[in-house]
Amino acid sequence: MQLILVSACLLGEAVRYNGLDRRSSHAVLVRWIEERRIVPICPEVAGGLLVPRPPAEIVGGAGGGAVLRGASTVVTDGGVDVTDAFRRGAEVALSTALARGVRVALLKEGSPSCGSGYIYDGTFSGSRRDGLGVTAALLQSAGIRVFSEHQFEDADRYLRSLGDAPAVVPAEDEPRRS
Ligand code: SF4
Repeated sequence: MQLILVSACLLGEAVRYNGLDRRSSHAVLVRWIEERRIVPICPEVAGGLLVPRPPAEIVGGAGGGAVLRGASTVVTDGGVDVTDAFRRGAEVALSTALARGVRVALLKEGSPSCGSGYIYDGTFSGSRRDGLGVTAALLQSAGIRVFSEHQFEDADRYLRSLGDAPAVVPAEDEPRRS
């Protein structure tokens, strides 16, 4: 069965910077839970950040790809550089996905880690820019398709298009058919 990586805050885990969750009760998510398809991840907590924590944005709204290339950084509203924690969290998310054979992710929109359609512009003024968070960018660069909580149906269609047959690996002593 195809598994899907999902932002922990959408699953009701209180891991956001402000100590709250963003639980979704979307019917597709409820079904995925029943089907045991979900691999939860909070990249920022996985990267070593605490709950609660100061809000952070990517400098210049440059996007996760720029952070991964070393061309931008992630800073808190107090000016503390938290780039390393964001990069670590992205790497944990990717290694978790690869270890479980995950090819699809549904992540919280707008986050400097999880955003896939937009992020904030680095001024902490609420202004948005089109772009990806750091984790979403790393997952996409590895070929994992990233959707947001505004795209549950699209994500479900894509997930099902991948098929549910597990990879068939013949046992060592099983005669192979040619
Ligand atoms: S890093 Fe992602 S999973 Fe964690 S709280 Fe932020 S949006 Fe949710």
